[in-house]
Amino acid sequence: MELFTVFIYFIFVDMAFAGTNAIHWSYKEGDLDQMHWSDEYPECGGQNQSPIDIQRRSVRHDPQMLHLELLGYEAQKGNFRMTNNGHSVQIALPPTMVIAGGLPDRYTAVQMHLHWGGWDLEASGAEHTIDGIRYMAELHVVHYNSDKYASFAEAKDKPGGLAVLAFFYEDGHFENTYYSDFIANLAKVKYAGQSTNLPNLNVRSMFPENLNHFFRYQGSLTTPPCYESIIWTVFDTPITLSHNQIRKLESTLMDNENKTLWNDYRIAQPLNDRVVTSSFLPRLGRGTFCRQEEIEAKLLKIEGLITSLGSHIHSDGGAVVTSRKGPRVIIPMVLHFTERSVGSYVKVHHGHSMALRSFSVCMHVRTHTGAVHTVHTVLSYSTAGHDNELVVAVGYEVGLWIGNEFVNFPHNLQSRGWSSYCLTWASHSGGAELWINGMVGEEQYLRSGYELQAGGTLVLGKDQDGFLGVSDADAFVGQMTDVNVWDYVLSASEIRDQMSCESSAFRGNVLSWGVTHLSLYGGVQLEAEHRCP
Ligand SMILES: [Zn+2]
Repeated sequence: MELFTVFIYFIFVDMAFAGTNAIHWSYKEGDLDQMHWSDEYPECGGQNQSPIDIQRRSVRHDPQMLHLELLGYEAQKGNFRMTNNGHSVQIALPPTMVIAGGLPDRYTAVQMHLHWGGWDLEASGAEHTIDGIRYMAELHVVHYNSDKYASFAEAKDKPGGLAVLAFFYEDGHFENTYYSDFIANLAKVKYAGQSTNLPNLNVRSMFPENLNHFFRYQGSLTTPPCYESIIWTVFDTPITLSHNQIRKLESTLMDNENKTLWNDYRIAQPLNDRVVTSSFLPRLGRGTFCRQEEIEAKLLKIEGLITSLGSHIHSDGGAVVTSRKGPRVIIPMVLHFTERSVGSYVKVHHGHSMALRSFSVCMHVRTHTGAVHTVHTVLSYSTAGHDNELVVAVGYEVGLWIGNEFVNFPHNLQSRGWSSYCLTWASHSGGAELWINGMVGEEQYLRSGYELQAGGTLVLGKDQDGFLGVSDADAFVGQMTDVNVWDYVLSASEIRDQMSCESSAFRGNVLSWGVTHLSLYGGVQLEAEHRCP
C-alpha cells in the first residue's frame, strides 16, 4: 500500500523541492531504509503492521464472510492518470468505483499500484507471502471509507478508514492482454514524477476471474507513515502475466535516485494477536517446497513425539478396541470428541493397504450445536509425501482431498442430528461423489489416474500436519460412528444399505468399524448410545 503525497503529481517534479516537503524513505538503501522507518514514523513499529505472512494452517475459515460487491469496476472511458511516484506506478481511480457490499461500510476507490521484485532473475516482489512463499508481484487497490469520511486524506489514519484489495501475480506462458495497455504505458512514466493519462480503464478485467477466495485481516499501510487503518482483503487466486510482461514491469521504471525501481516491497511484519480469516477452506499442503527450517522444525516435532510415545501407549492404551484372542466386535460404538478435549484423536490400525485406486468412505456423524458453520476433519490419511493424501471434512460443505488435491461439495443439509455421509472416488475417471442421507450430489473430479500412496497414517477426528503431527485446526467436535472404508465404489443400494439400522454387518474391507483396531488419544469418549434407537 503506497501512501502517495500530493506534490508527486506534478509532471517532472523537482526532486530538490520534494526533499524539502517529505522525509525520504526507501526499501533497502539510504538513510531511512525499511528497518528504520519507525525512527521517523513511529506507527511503522506498531503491533498491527502490514504486510504479513499468511499461514494457511492458522487461518480461521469464516463461512459467513460475504463476497465483495464491486460497482463501476468494468470498462470505462475517461482520463485516468498513471504516475511513477518513485516507489511504484500508480493509477488514480474515479470515485464511481465503489465497494458496495461485503465490508462493514461503503468504500470508494482512490488509486491502485503495484509492488514487484526484479533485483535478480529469481527475485519475487509481492508484499504478502503465503506460507512463506512470495509471489512475483502484488497489486493494491486502495479505497477509503466514504460512509464515515469525506475524503481519503481524512480517512487514511482512522481505524477502518481504508480498505485495500490485494492480488498476487504469477508468471505464465501467455500474454495477459488485459495488461497490454498498462504495460505499454510504463515507458511513458519511466522517471519518478512522470505521469500519463490512460483513456480507457477496465479494472475488473485486471483481476482474476474468481474473487470468492480471499483472506481478511486488520493491518496498515505498507509504506510510511504505516497508519494502522486498513481492512485488508488478500485474494488467493493469482493474476497470471507472461514472463515478458513481468520483466517489463520489473525493469522499466526508475526511482527517485534514477536507479531501476525494483524490490519495492516491505518484508512481512509480526502477526501478534491478530487472526487472519478466510472466505474459503484453504487448500493445504499446496507447495512441494522443503525449506531447511521447516525440515528442522518437523524433526524436532518427531523427536518430541517419540519421547512421549511410551507414556501415550500406557496412559491411553486402555481404550484400544481389541482383545488377545484377535478382533472383537463391539457394537454399538460411538466415538465422542468433546469440545474440552481438542487434542483428542483416534488412530486407525488398518491392516489393508491404502494403495487404493478407488474407494468409498462412509460414516455417521453428529456435529455439535453451533458447529454447522464450521468444517471438521473426520478422517485424515497422511503420508510422507502428502499431508492430505486422503482427507474428509464435513460441515456446511464437505471437503475431499486426494493426493493433496481438493474439491468442495456444497450441500444444504441443516440437520444437527445424525447424518450419513458417503464419499466415493474412482481413479480411472477421477470422479468423486458425495452422498448425504442416501441422496447423491453433483459429481466432482480430481486426481484421475492417481493411486493413493501406501504406508501413511490414518487418523479420525483430526487433520495431520507434516510427519506424524496431529493438528488442532478444523478438529472434529461431535460424535461419529460406523466409519467404514472400502477399496471400491459402492453401488447406490449398498450406500443405502449401510445407512439402515438393520444391516450393521455391512462393513468396509479397508476400515471395518468394530473390527479394525483403534487407539484413542487425548480423551475421546466411547459411548454405548447408538444412532439407531
Ligand atoms: Zn501497496
